[in-house]
Formats: sequence, C-alpha cells, structure tokens
Amino acid sequence: MATPLLSIQNVSYAYHTFQGETSVLKNLSMELYPGEFVAVVGPSGCGKSTLLSLITGLIKPEEGEIKFATKTGMETTKLGYMLQKDHLFEWRSVFDNALLGLEITGKLTEENIDYVAEAFKEYGLWDFKDQKPSELSGGMRQRVALIRTLALSPELLLLDEPFSALDYQTRLSVSADIGRIIRNSKKTVLLITHDLSEAISLSDKVLVFSQRPANIKNEIPISLSIEGNHPLAARNAPEFNHYFNLLWEELSNE
Ligand code: ADP
Ligand code: MG
Repeated sequence: MATPLLSIQNVSYAYHTFQGETSVLKNLSMELYPGEFVAVVGPSGCGKSTLLSLITGLIKPEEGEIKFATKTGMETTKLGYMLQKDHLFEWRSVFDNALLGLEITGKLTEENIDYVAEAFKEYGLWDFKDQKPSELSGGMRQRVALIRTLALSPELLLLDEPFSALDYQTRLSVSADIGRIIRNSKKTVLLITHDLSEAISLSDKVLVFSQRPANIKNEIPISLSIEGNHPLAARNAPEFNHYFNLLWEELSNE
C-alpha cells in the first residue's frame, strides 16, 4: 500500500469570536494518496474552506494532526492553490501574471519560462499573452491562474470552488479542460465544490461532509465509462445519474 501524501488524523477545529464558539470540524480523519483526485461536497458553511486553511497551515488544528509524507518531506511551497477568484493583477500582462509565482519564489529560470510558454500555447492562450486580465474571458483567466499554479510544480493542488464564479457554459468547458490538464500532469488534488456534477465528472472519489461540525458522512468511489474526449463525455457516462442520485440523497438527508 502506498504512503498517503496527506494524512489528517482526528482533527477538530473551532472559531472563537466575541459571539462565542463555532465548532467547525469534529474528529475528522482522511487520507489522500499520490495521484488521487478527491472531491469534497457538503452543505454551505460546514467547514470545507476551513479544512483547506488547516492543510495550508494558515490555522492550526485544536486537536489531531495533519501530516505530509513525501520523499522529501513537504514544505508549504509544495502546495498549489486555485480559488474562486483568479487574483490576476491588472497592471501586468497575463503572461507576466503566470510568471509571478516563479518570480516571487526566485525560480524564474529559462526552463520554467519555457514551461509557461508551452502551457500558453497548449491551452489556446498564446495569442493573448500580452493582454491585460480584463481583456480575457473568465474561463481564459482561470486557465492563466492554473498555469501560474502548475508552474511552481506543486505536489498537492488545493482547489476551493475554482469554477463557481464562471457562467454555466464556460464552467462546463473550463472544468472539463482543467480536469484534463490536471490529470495529464498527474497531480494529487483536493477539490472543494458544491456542484455535484462537477465532483462526479472530475474526481476518483467524492467525500460527503455533514453539517457543521463537519465530519465525513460517506465516501463514494467514482468510476465512469467515458467515451471520447468531448467536454461533456463524463457527464454523459451511463453511470453518471446513479452517482448524482446517490449524492443528492446523501445531501438531502443533511
Ligand atoms: P464552507 O467552506 O464549507 O462553506 P467555511 O469553512 O468557510 O465553510 O466556514 C465554516 C463555518 O465557520 C461557517 O459557519 C463560518 O461562518 C465560520 N467561519 C469561517 N471563518 C470564520 C472566521 N474567521 N471566524 C469565525 N467564524 C468563521
Ligand atoms: Mg468555502
């Protein structure tokens, strides 16, 4: 059995404010293995983003442990994020935005710049590389944000509802597109989403979180027979509706 890349053991967390204590995670345990693509779905406010903050080390668990196990022992620099907002800077061209992470971490080598240039060509962004973020569509900007993240060659990608600001149609094609890019790069991924279809079409496994304080209610392995590479291929798989109904039931009982 492979060693998990990320291991979360009996983690509890509460926010303490003047209004009182909000218990957000209670005794949560999960593991993420190298190359796995795991989605987390759960009611709004149950603690999904808090879990990511704990994984990144932004906040510390009150109880329990979060461990990374890699050959090298993992530092925070090996984590990559993608959030709902693309956080691109309007005063830089989109190409220079994609280089920003490399610049900040002192990794602006010729090889890394080539990687970004190749990615721009592959994802249909090359002709737009000198434009400002506002001149690109939301879907294109999310691709730039993803390239900026992947350029740092993270071992673990944390995605917090990365497509939810996009309109429905863009969302379908960009999520399929980005799913493919991430799969090709063989990254380990934790995707938080409230979109059941997105979770089913992108992941190997869906974790269903309960109401706050969040715990894992169920764990559903996904296996789809996908034909062709149409963006909607996963959603048209014969097993898709079965998983959708299953997840719907799980969440309706919350
Ligand atoms: P989700 O991402 O699942 O929607 P969050 O992890 O963002 O949920 O939040 C979980 C709960 O914790 C919510 O009830 C939210 O109001 C509360 N919360 C989040 N951040 C803070 C904070 N900084 N201080 C106090 N309460 C917070
Ligand atoms: Mg959230």
